Amino acid sequence: MSLSRFQALDTILNRSGFELEYVDIPDGRISSFFGCNVFNDEAMKEYMNEEAFNNVKLAIESGAKLSREDADVVADAMKRWAMDRGATHYTHWFQPLTGRTAEKHDSFFTLKPDGTVLEEFDGDTLVQQEPDGSSFPGGGLRSTFEARGYTAWDPSSPAFILEVSEGKTLCIPTIFVTYGGDSLDYKLPMLKSQAYLEKAAISVCQLFDESVTKVITTLGWEQEYFLVDEALFHARPDLLLTGRTLLGKHSPKGQQLDDHYFGSIPERVYAYMRDLETECHKLGIPVRTRHNEVGPGQYELAPMYEESNLAVDHNQLLMDLMDRVGRRHKLRVLLHEKPFAGVNGSGKHNNWSMSTNTGRNLLSPGKQPGKNLLFLTFFMNTIQAVYRYADILRASVASASNDHRLGANEAPPAIISVFIGQTLTEVLDKLEAGIDADAAGVKEALDLLSKIPNLELDNTDRNRTSPFAFTGNKFEIRMVGSSMNCAAPMTVMNTIVGRQLVEFKAELDSLMKGGTSRDEAILAILKRYITESKPIRFEGDGYSEDWKEEAARRGLSNTPNTPDALGAYLSKASIELFTSSGVFTEREMHAHYDVMCENYILKLQIESRTLGEMVVNHILPAAIGYQSQLADNILKLKELGLPENTYEAQMDIVKLISENIVNIKLAVNQMTDVRKQANAREDATAKAKAYCYDVKPLMEDIRTYADRLEYLVDDREWPMIKYRELMFVR
Ligand code: ADP
Ligand code: MG
Repeated sequence: MSLSRFQALDTILNRSGFELEYVDIPDGRISSFFGCNVFNDEAMKEYMNEEAFNNVKLAIESGAKLSREDADVVADAMKRWAMDRGATHYTHWFQPLTGRTAEKHDSFFTLKPDGTVLEEFDGDTLVQQEPDGSSFPGGGLRSTFEARGYTAWDPSSPAFILEVSEGKTLCIPTIFVTYGGDSLDYKLPMLKSQAYLEKAAISVCQLFDESVTKVITTLGWEQEYFLVDEALFHARPDLLLTGRTLLGKHSPKGQQLDDHYFGSIPERVYAYMRDLETECHKLGIPVRTRHNEVGPGQYELAPMYEESNLAVDHNQLLMDLMDRVGRRHKLRVLLHEKPFAGVNGSGKHNNWSMSTNTGRNLLSPGKQPGKNLLFLTFFMNTIQAVYRYADILRASVASASNDHRLGANEAPPAIISVFIGQTLTEVLDKLEAGIDADAAGVKEALDLLSKIPNLELDNTDRNRTSPFAFTGNKFEIRMVGSSMNCAAPMTVMNTIVGRQLVEFKAELDSLMKGGTSRDEAILAILKRYITESKPIRFEGDGYSEDWKEEAARRGLSNTPNTPDALGAYLSKASIELFTSSGVFTEREMHAHYDVMCENYILKLQIESRTLGEMVVNHILPAAIGYQSQLADNILKLKELGLPENTYEAQMDIVKLISENIVNIKLAVNQMTDVRKQANAREDATAKAKAYCYDVKPLMEDIRTYADRLEYLVDDREWPMIKYRELMFVR
């Protein structure tokens, strides 16, 4: 009998009582402890004098460099605040290109040469650190001249205290760069892209309102995930090592009945969610909604939106918290985009918009007709940007795990299209076809725009199959993978929209110099954008085969795998875009590209090796064992002199099992060979493609044979936790 599988199932059946013990909401009101572990304005005011506080705030808001003295003051305040809350260590917290976060803890405590003992933390330590970062991916940026990586304080995101069991650590959000200042993380390029977009957006806003002096981008992510019991997780080598199931026959019942979506949340999961939310609230992460998702065992968590940099940090922190809190509840969180074949995968919808210091959401149609032209300007520039740079946006969400969603019969497709809903489609159609860009036309256009109903309240017009959808007052980017760092697609959005606005403004300026009025010039340009960007607009079913053909006719790209999608990063247009906007240097682009390829290769390499071991060490022995039992049975029946038809069925099963055993053996040998050939390639692109085109298909073949064996072999002998158990046993 397969011991580990049944022991795991037993463990779950005997679990009891631990579910609720971790949920402890101090005095029941979230507002009473929200942000209590964050060094926010309130904490700063308490621990710093007014002058220092004002200097720091000013430096943060203007992006200016903080003086050495002020840095010392902040460091001292942070240290006292953190120590008063029981923190003993501090760490520079950063986001290397591996996709998760990294930290190296140092103690406040130091021993002076004269033997005195004290707790120390000064401005220098706050501002810069040199973690031994040589093992973080750098795409060759460091090997050439300087091996070290440096972390530098990002004052725009507040420090916080992370509680891990009894220990408390002060975490300081930082960027991660080489000695020469090249970025080794997700954060620095995003901060640069925000600055670029901000400058472009302000100059456009000022055409309408001179009091606009600051534009931020906002991000509200929605995080999908699966939960499985820890015992089941440990009994599956693939979940343990790769975060997804590499084999497993579909369960007869999956998500067909839709009985999980928005259904009642199981008690145990509810306890986990509440515990997680409490941890989030202490750290100032404004999570608000929770519900079941489509797949059995799948859930979603979403916060209120925030300034993008903070939202990205919060999402990174959340993924870490999800895992830690899960362990307390003997649950494992699967952030992988596709843990189970045949049921929905997980994404991370990125709701993105821009807003001004005057409190205006630039993508809100609003109720002021006079300013609707401003909405239309930002709305159309975003669509035009996505139309022109769709391939780069697609590249930003490419990863080995997200390949199982995009383009793999799953929402959303790999073809980028923009959904805007019926109302706005009608508006654009009218503007395009019927309205002249003259004075009367402007009046007509404004009149039309003022009649846009309140889309923010109207949630009916939704298209769940669209990868990029306008949802009332923001664009929702649905291609982002559940395990990803949001910063990569946000960097691309900021840069492409920034670039688009720069070009828009330049054209507008030249028309206005030639004597055209502001509104006539805007209308003329936007009309052209409406016509040009039409191919990217699609309101239909993104899953359908028809759409693939239609999209090809429209000239839209469809790159369903990462190695091909990543190519867009290094196109001439992409290099020109990122270097001229100051977001990446060309060297950084090559380095980041290499890291993305390397991540892809390593993921597939681990999966392929794990699968090889699973079939050779677990599946084949089980199949052979059961086959022997059948063979014994056949021999015995023969010995008894019974007629052939009494063991005919057994013979059939033996033959079928043999077929699949032979096929697995052949495919595994072949997979090992092609993997060796792939590994021997020097060039990262060629290697990634070899994994994609040579190794991956063999993994799929092996899975097919193994899943057939699962159907044939005695349930008691089957060594892997089955899909029905993973999805329905709680
Ligand atoms: P759903 O897409 O699930 O129907 P909503 O449309 O209500 O849900 O909101 C989804 C997400 O959009 C939330 O996380 C919310 O914070 C975010 N969001 C709302 N307005 C904005 C905005 N102006 N900028 C960025 N994100 C926003
Ligand atoms: Mg959504």
